[in-house]
Amino acid sequence: MCLYLGNSPYARWRTLPTGSVSLTGGLWAQRQSVNRETSLRHGYHTLQRAGNFYNLRLAAGLAEGEYRGPRFMDSDLYKWLEALAWELARGPDDELQRMTDLTIESIAAAQADDGYLDSYYQVAEPDNRWGDLKDGHELYCAGHLIQAAVAYHRVAGDSRLLRVACRFADYVGSVFGPDKRPGTPGHPELEMALVELYRETGEGRYLDLARFFLDQRGRGLLGSGRYGNPAYYQDHVPVRLATAVAGHAVRQLYLVAGVTDVYLETGERALLEAVLRQWPDMTESKLAITGGVGARHEGEAFGAPYELPNDRCYNETCAAIASMFWNWRLLLATGEARFADLIERTLYGGFLSGVSLDGQSFFYVNSLLSRGGIARAEWYTCACCPPNVMRVLASLDHYFVTSDWADTARGQAAGIQIHQYAPCVIAAELEPGCQVILEVETDYPWHGQVMLTIKQTDGQPWRLELRVPGWCDEAAMRVGGQAVEVPSGGGYVAIERTWRAGDTVELEFAMTPQFVEPHPQIDAARGCVAIQRGPVVYCIEQIDQEPPVDVLGVQIDETLPLRTVWRGDLLGGVMTVEATGYTIDMEAWGNQLYRPVEDRKNLPREPVRLTAVPYYAWANREPGPMRVWIPGAK
Ligand SMILES: [Zn+2]
Repeated sequence: MCLYLGNSPYARWRTLPTGSVSLTGGLWAQRQSVNRETSLRHGYHTLQRAGNFYNLRLAAGLAEGEYRGPRFMDSDLYKWLEALAWELARGPDDELQRMTDLTIESIAAAQADDGYLDSYYQVAEPDNRWGDLKDGHELYCAGHLIQAAVAYHRVAGDSRLLRVACRFADYVGSVFGPDKRPGTPGHPELEMALVELYRETGEGRYLDLARFFLDQRGRGLLGSGRYGNPAYYQDHVPVRLATAVAGHAVRQLYLVAGVTDVYLETGERALLEAVLRQWPDMTESKLAITGGVGARHEGEAFGAPYELPNDRCYNETCAAIASMFWNWRLLLATGEARFADLIERTLYGGFLSGVSLDGQSFFYVNSLLSRGGIARAEWYTCACCPPNVMRVLASLDHYFVTSDWADTARGQAAGIQIHQYAPCVIAAELEPGCQVILEVETDYPWHGQVMLTIKQTDGQPWRLELRVPGWCDEAAMRVGGQAVEVPSGGGYVAIERTWRAGDTVELEFAMTPQFVEPHPQIDAARGCVAIQRGPVVYCIEQIDQEPPVDVLGVQIDETLPLRTVWRGDLLGGVMTVEATGYTIDMEAWGNQLYRPVEDRKNLPREPVRLTAVPYYAWANREPGPMRVWIPGAK
């Protein structure tokens, strides 16, 4: 969930309160609208059908029968409920409100008298509470309950669900802790939720409990684990000594997000240093070009360095989300643009590919190559991803802008930082009584021009910090029509002055489509190139190609220029990229699967046009072949 750092002492930047940023148009407003109008309602009906509400009724003693679905069913419902909360903050809706009220009542009714709440264990294994910390998911579900409760309390001032969550958290705290039962969650999640509960309530015991669970890791308490390796659960090393990302990708990234959260509140440097060591391990050897993470199906796990397959990659949608959660916390802790860059790459890549354009079907695995037949599903038996997408889209506006206080020691005024670009209105209180309103107009990510207009300010000087994306090697900025120097290499450009209403800042990021090549040790992509334009990674889908192009056999000529073509009619409106490629004469191969190497200069090949579309938009038409990495034609 999007955390609120109004008072966190070690945050370099503060998050803005809910409602401060309104996305007013463009790609993300469109995605938010589909999420609100379609996905959330689809989620309600699907959760009803899958048995999530029924399980709660069983736990409440209001129905009789057998528990349905995997053990962690409650968490799907909690994530969806969190999405409802963020949506109700963006605007009232009677139907969504009724769903929210009904769900909160169902959850409250299911809670046991002592505060425990987990419909699986209450119904199916009542004598086995905490009997399987590795895979039982009770603490994981508790985390999602807390996040939903915090969200709804924060946006609606309604404490019904927060009371349920606090009772459960207090019950957990009565079982686990120093001088009580040892243990740590097999699936991290509760750690960041408890820190957020501390931020919401001010109760230090929740922060202490989060730190306790982190301290318990790396002591072998979870046993050898699935796949014979405690790294699957990140129980192979204490969190302060970790140097690499390992094991189940979602577990790993929720864990480091929780570690970063505890740093933000306690300032314990060893925690920050540990996660800052792990970050380059992920980004320099275990990250898909789309921002996807988790190379292996087995264990839904990170692979070895440079083990980044195309067709058998995992890249779970939840792992992309977990990566954004972690990078958001690192950004707030450090103020370093590299974390916002990775959020951007992931948003337009392996996150957004997780949901169809109509908002009714979802990817769990986000492949980089399809031989055909891969399509999103309406729901999953293990349905962690769909409601996770919903809560991120519903709260997406929280991730675009931050602020900071004036720093008199450094002679620096209060500031606003803009991390992601979309048409929006930003209203921020920089100092008590100093209300600033900004409007952002842009057609990002399709065009690189961004126009900011100060709509309201109070005559005090303040600082505007604007992120120049790491992918951009040619940026220009004008303040009030006057050119301002933009340092190369990305990062934040700060302009401090006494602004007046009507002042403008113009940004221009050159969005030239380019070929990207992989590190030579990424075996699966060796000899291939991908296409990227601005923050958007592209793919070629069979449906966009003209005969005789077969995307599974085609080559691309990276020495010839790329051309962009706006297609308002396609995939909700996308900038397509056209390249020149070559088809290979398959007939010359006959039935041979292998053959002696021939003189490549004399191989017959036919020049053809290749049309690439944004990766996030693939598989919205027929489920044909697709590829991100395309063999070069050398
Ligand atoms: Zn998932």
